[in-house]
Amino acid sequence: MSTSTQPIGNSGLVQISSVEEMIQQRVAEERLRLEREAGIAHKEVHHFHKPIERPFTKDQRSRTTLLFGGLTWKHEKLVHGALEGLGYKVEVVPTPNVKAFQLGKEYGNNGQCNPTYFTVGNLVQYLQHLETSGQKREDLINNYVFLTAGACGPCRFGMYEAEYRLALRNAGYDGFRVMLFQQSGGLDQSEAEAGLEMNLDFFLNILNGLNMGDVINETAYQIRPFETDGGATDAVLDEVIDYMHDVLKTKSPWTVEERLGSVANKIPMKGTVQYLGKFLEQLYSDGYVEALHHCKDRFNSIKVDRLRVKPIVKVTGEFWAQTTEGDGNFGMFRFLEREGAQVIVEPIATWINYMIHQVVQRTKDMRGLEEGAVMPPSWRLDKQAKIEWNYRNKLMKLKAAEMIFAREYHKIVDALGGTAHKLVSQYELQRVGHPYYNSRAAGGEGHLEVAKNIYYTNHELAHMVLSLKPFGCMPSTQSDGAQSAVVAHYKDMIYLPIETSGEGEINAHSRVQMALGEAKVKAKTEFKEVLEKIGKTTDELHSYVDSHPELSQAVYKVPKYKGVIGTAANVAIHVAEQMGSSVPYHLEAH
Ligand code: SF4
Repeated sequence: MSTSTQPIGNSGLVQISSVEEMIQQRVAEERLRLEREAGIAHKEVHHFHKPIERPFTKDQRSRTTLLFGGLTWKHEKLVHGALEGLGYKVEVVPTPNVKAFQLGKEYGNNGQCNPTYFTVGNLVQYLQHLETSGQKREDLINNYVFLTAGACGPCRFGMYEAEYRLALRNAGYDGFRVMLFQQSGGLDQSEAEAGLEMNLDFFLNILNGLNMGDVINETAYQIRPFETDGGATDAVLDEVIDYMHDVLKTKSPWTVEERLGSVANKIPMKGTVQYLGKFLEQLYSDGYVEALHHCKDRFNSIKVDRLRVKPIVKVTGEFWAQTTEGDGNFGMFRFLEREGAQVIVEPIATWINYMIHQVVQRTKDMRGLEEGAVMPPSWRLDKQAKIEWNYRNKLMKLKAAEMIFAREYHKIVDALGGTAHKLVSQYELQRVGHPYYNSRAAGGEGHLEVAKNIYYTNHELAHMVLSLKPFGCMPSTQSDGAQSAVVAHYKDMIYLPIETSGEGEINAHSRVQMALGEAKVKAKTEFKEVLEKIGKTTDELHSYVDSHPELSQAVYKVPKYKGVIGTAANVAIHVAEQMGSSVPYHLEAH
């Protein structure tokens, strides 16, 4: 234990180590006394320690494949391209199915949440598939690494890493390496030797891949319900994802050597210049923008009829359950579309933004305090000023990170035609959600589930909110309780929570069908009222649209009018305005 001298209160200087030792000693004495009183024998405690794993080193990179998954196939393919662009061998673990869920139950711990079973079992299933395709088990263990996001909790997310290891061991893959994004130092590798270099290039490439995945994915969900040729959206989606995969793969990271050649080694502070150069390239280069314009043009080749009346369903819930597009949420997105809905999907960027926002919040809550430090007395203005400076400095950096992240995301939205939603302000979500769910209560989606329900209803963006909540999810169970207060407060809200599991699909689908029936009535009534107020028939609107082809373009930004939710209803007002009619509606301010 290091010894330092710090002022305590106004009483002068005290040896910190002696205070801590004294506290530890008294705690130990008191514990012994209580144990004696209760008749409990004192036992040695053996805490769990993370097993020491074989490191993934730089010299293994050319023969080691990184495995990852757990998102949508669009995000995965783009991140695949981004990682290949950095020189890694990469493979995507396919979207989990019910078989993966069963393997997760068989090889993992009991009593986990639903996403744990699906994702853990999925990795085992993929390794089994590789083995049956002819690969030797020892080669899989030596030449593959599974890469996943990690956290320290407080929900079961904190246990994922341990769960992967347990299931892999039980399934016969003991020694298979699992690496967490947050874990760059966890394998005791120096940066120079690390097989996976978690540097600025790595994070920028992954963020670009994820952000593009979000925006392209949402754009496709906006178009598909209105396509006039069935399957046209999916065909273009395949094509643009392949195209952007290659763009990400072939774009080499900015380097000072590339710019300055042999002079690069002579410039002072080369590391800082390298870092700044990469950062500025990200902010100001429009290399991706041109490629996204091409994607927009490809989407515009799809013919749409936006005067079809469809209820808009906003899907929220737990992060994985609201993202996956397979058995993990009963294939809910395709089911909703088959049943006639237009779906608003949740971007992964909301969760990244939420993570940054939580740190901002914690920093604000800690203002005037420094972790682990003894507070200086009030007369030590110099020390107090230092704490204040550190606080402001940290907050400023975090705010800059929030701003830059949103700016980069919106750059992609604009490049793809501006139809995808902008990121919802975390401050607004906190404001509306906090009265029902304490925004300091971390874990899972925290207050977001409640906040999004209120936000999308209040801002008239969806006819119905569907929350996908995994079986056994602790934060979702908490927010379910809070949602009853929300629903009681907002009487017109159509809100449906669905528990997702490895079974029960028919039951879940029929519950969604029932709520969707109400949402359809809401959408049809709204459209009928709009037609009455603008004094037009659908035939008149259709014939105007037919003579103005730009209105049938798939990536056409339809204005949003106050009090109007549905796409068809907003299009009707917009077309009536274009026809020269005066309409009793006002544009939503942005
Ligand atoms: S948020 Fe819920 S479902 Fe997701 S990891 Fe945590 S406990 Fe599991």
